[in-house]
Amino acid sequence: MHEIVDVTFELKTYEYSEPFRIANNVENKANNIEVRVYLKDGTIGIGEASSSYRVNGEKVPALFALQDTVKEMIAGEDVGNYRRIFDIMDGFSRTAPSVKAAVQYATLDALGVVMGIPVYQILGGSKSKIHTDKTIGIDTIDVMVEKARKTFDEGFKTLKIKIGENLKEDIKKMVAISEATPGASYIVDANQGYTAKMAIQFAQSVYAQNVNVAVFEQPIMWNDLDGLKLLRYNSPFPIAADESAKTRHDVYTLIRNECVDFVNIKLMKSGLSDALSIVELAKTTNIGLMIGCMGESSVGINQSVHFAAGTGAFAYHDLDSHMMLKEEFRGKFKQEGDALIPNV
Ligand SMILES: [Mg+2]
Repeated sequence: MHEIVDVTFELKTYEYSEPFRIANNVENKANNIEVRVYLKDGTIGIGEASSSYRVNGEKVPALFALQDTVKEMIAGEDVGNYRRIFDIMDGFSRTAPSVKAAVQYATLDALGVVMGIPVYQILGGSKSKIHTDKTIGIDTIDVMVEKARKTFDEGFKTLKIKIGENLKEDIKKMVAISEATPGASYIVDANQGYTAKMAIQFAQSVYAQNVNVAVFEQPIMWNDLDGLKLLRYNSPFPIAADESAKTRHDVYTLIRNECVDFVNIKLMKSGLSDALSIVELAKTTNIGLMIGCMGESSVGINQSVHFAAGTGAFAYHDLDSHMMLKEEFRGKFKQEGDALIPNV
């Protein structure tokens, strides 16, 4: 009755309202793949893959070519046995994690429709509301300060600040932003732009100037585990892994080697199955969690809203990409200021 009979991929291109700049990268548009699973009874489940070549090594045409393979692998499975579908999609953890995420979510979306409950309740129903930050991309100091002030005034209490291209300027930017937005907390993301020595200098310098950094995210290269450990023990702020933390195995290695205080889970890096494992790993080892995004539209952000509310596992939510894209809102959640509320 609730078995999958078809799977379709559709390319969806979304333009950013303005170019989004991070360390050594600019995005003008997001090429996402909308995934639909069709059940025998006509139920449709929807997911979205927002791939990343920079982080995952994914290219859209290669992902798109997986449509028939994925269909062949999961057709006939009942969405009620969703763990079987999760396990099948785990085969794509290294090669197509965003597609894995979209198919796994579409499976739960269909199951939710069948059961008549929202996905966040299938995942545990831990919270009925979460709060997101909003991101300030790299720009001149004046523009970043002005955007930070405006965003804080709009009600976003946590600001995500992109840095990592110029150490001295970055320190000045953080101090100026902090002075312009008293009471805000900051997730500072250098997207691998620094060396460990530079990152230590940044952290110690802004700390001495009374900047309240809640999380200092991926300052150095993803594979520099020694550097991360050195930084972690020389930074007054918690250090988070993002690009270093894709699969459950990556996170296990980071924790075992004492490299991180925080992990930034993204469904597009891990899918739902690895994200669930990472949640338990982090709980077991007292590591903090945040949840982030790539270039998802509201269809893709919807996945993370339900995942985050369902598991209730995250201290910080960085689920703002849909606010940066030109799109018509299609999420199964409501947005009130910085609050994201999954539909019941
Ligand atoms: Mg990041």
